[in-house]
Amino acid sequence: MLYGEHSTDALMHITQRPELVFERGEGSWLHDHQGKSYLDFVQGWAVNCLGHCPPEIVGALTAQAGKLINPSPAFYNAPMIELADLLCANSCFDRVFFANTGAEANEGAIKLARKWGQLHRQGAYEIVTFDHSFHGRTLATMSASGKAGWDRLFAPQVEGFPKAIYNDIGSVEALIGPNTVAVMLEPVQGEGGVIPAEVEFLRALRRLTEARGILLIVDEVQTGVGRTGKLFAYQHAGIEPDIMTLGKGIGGGVPLAALLAREAVCCFVPGDQGGTYNGNPLMTAVGVAVLRRILAPGFLDEVERLAAYLSERLRELAARHHLVGERGSGLLRALILDDERGPELVRRALQLAPQGLLLNSPRPNLLRFMPALNVSLAEIDLMIAHLDALLAR
Ligand SMILES: *Cc1c(COP(=O)(O)O)cnc(C)c1O
Repeated sequence: MLYGEHSTDALMHITQRPELVFERGEGSWLHDHQGKSYLDFVQGWAVNCLGHCPPEIVGALTAQAGKLINPSPAFYNAPMIELADLLCANSCFDRVFFANTGAEANEGAIKLARKWGQLHRQGAYEIVTFDHSFHGRTLATMSASGKAGWDRLFAPQVEGFPKAIYNDIGSVEALIGPNTVAVMLEPVQGEGGVIPAEVEFLRALRRLTEARGILLIVDEVQTGVGRTGKLFAYQHAGIEPDIMTLGKGIGGGVPLAALLAREAVCCFVPGDQGGTYNGNPLMTAVGVAVLRRILAPGFLDEVERLAAYLSERLRELAARHHLVGERGSGLLRALILDDERGPELVRRALQLAPQGLLLNSPRPNLLRFMPALNVSLAEIDLMIAHLDALLAR
């Protein structure tokens, strides 16, 4: 399409984008180049945890941009130190390495586990991951992912990622051998269709990995930073993993990710790991602002209240339209349809007038909801009313 005097043809075609250009956003709302508004229940794929352009993030970015943007990762900077301290003080982890994307944080987790295996498990390097899992789009994280077809796309894969069955402890046990160094999973499989790991499964995984002397890695890129109603999703199970990765929500919309580990696992030495932009103060200042807001008294209680409300409204919708049901954790939820019309519903929701609705369908038989963590009850009601009308047609 033409946008002013420019053509969108100058962009590589990596996804089918609708013919509109978003120019502004605030809270749960986006506005396109023709002045149409959209209620956003995707929020950059669970990224904008405080909605579009929240004052905390705008304030942190503008203040930090006027002070210091990037002294190089070879030096300390103030927001980097503060954010690492905040993350460690509020989790079971002792040290943090900052990255820019979830995939990069997961690459770091894989490298850390392999290094630890060289030092403590006679070179063991295999990491058990799961069918239908999603860990990112670099070569190693695509190989770690259990997405159908990804074993052949860009072959050959990075080796060493045998796949177990989610919520099936026996399938994990069967894959653990002398070459195994870790088990890695998402506490809720997001791209896989919003499938929560059972609390008992997470506890059994912790017991099993401890008994076998291997590491437990949680990929909380989607579930971390309040998304499930706790600061981190592993806390629902009362377990303490060895390594955790964060992305998406921690930056509230800017490229920020993190790799966290317990002291006994922190075996990188100078030269092993790094990156030009890693820990830069512009992004870590945003991380500090996001985390302070999420840790403010009452914020996570409110997320749980909103999640319960959304869950109930989705359950009513499922009953009214004879759908399969709903599931999820906190404000990461899915409506399970009775057929494969997810993508069509997403298309029609976008086209609603005068106001559109942004929804997501990671699998054709379901819709996924990832609103801002400070979405209002009225916005949830509006989304449900729109969806109700779409499902009735
Ligand atoms: C989005 C996601 C990633 C990849 O994050 P990027 O920032 O896109 O690299 C990894 N793991 C999980 C669970 C995710 O949801």
